[in-house]
Amino acid sequence: MKSIQRLTILGAGTPTPTKDRFGSSIVVEVNGDLVMFDCGPATTHKLTKAGISTTKVDYLFFSHHHFDHDVDYPCFLLTRWDQGAGKEETLKVFGPNLTEEFTENLIGNEGVFSHDWKARVNHPVSQQVYVNRGGTLPRRPPVVNAKNIKANATYKFDGWDIHTAEAKHVQPYLDSLAYRMETNDFSLVYTGDTEPCDSIEKLSQDADIMICMCWDDQSVMEKEKENTGQCGTLGAAEMAAKAGVKHLVLTHMGPNISKTENTKKSLKEIREIYSGRVTFAEEITEVNLNY
Ligand SMILES: [Zn+2]
Repeated sequence: MKSIQRLTILGAGTPTPTKDRFGSSIVVEVNGDLVMFDCGPATTHKLTKAGISTTKVDYLFFSHHHFDHDVDYPCFLLTRWDQGAGKEETLKVFGPNLTEEFTENLIGNEGVFSHDWKARVNHPVSQQVYVNRGGTLPRRPPVVNAKNIKANATYKFDGWDIHTAEAKHVQPYLDSLAYRMETNDFSLVYTGDTEPCDSIEKLSQDADIMICMCWDDQSVMEKEKENTGQCGTLGAAEMAAKAGVKHLVLTHMGPNISKTENTKKSLKEIREIYSGRVTFAEEITEVNLNY
């Protein structure tokens, strides 16, 4: 059995809500750990719809702090804490600058959601629900181990490593990171939001799978002057081809490229540049990893 057992797309969209896609999030099952990348709109509910328990996701990596990648974070934290009944592992969260501050501002003692956990910790009926779920009083506030991290670093976990690289998106306003998860038999890159760049091409060298943002058809992006700070169809295809990745998964798809006729046209153009396997990401869907 492969070390990466499951890759589920939760959010495959952008800040523009559409019927099928909204915001970004993926979750990977690796050596028994559930590792999530980004936490965009409705991620917690999408996890549940995908049959994945919120309390079992013990790692979260943020690519950057645009709302389409992090707005469900407070919901995820509070749900995980509430449903875990004190038996959940401490959540480990990593991301660029602001990850620690964001976490503290949400659920710290003075955080904007502290009224919620203070009420649940102290009110007798909430304590009863907690005990009925298997918790032991006194009920503790949520605890999250959040860490701001930088590009060009490696972090080691149980049977999997994470390598970081700079993604080129909306600096200097927000820092952005791309991630490579590496095990002894599989490598997966999650680009987050970025324009095509050398740092991610290098990070993705010979990867089994690259999950790359794809805002729109390249010619539309060029015409609309939206081709900086983000990838379109051909930019993603060129990066994947240069890096020699085996499977390109296009995500962060805007409403225009999500139209069937445009997706088909794009696939044809991508195939002229990139000869590996191509998947357009669908929400709440597992990506087939059987090669
Ligand atoms: Zn963004």
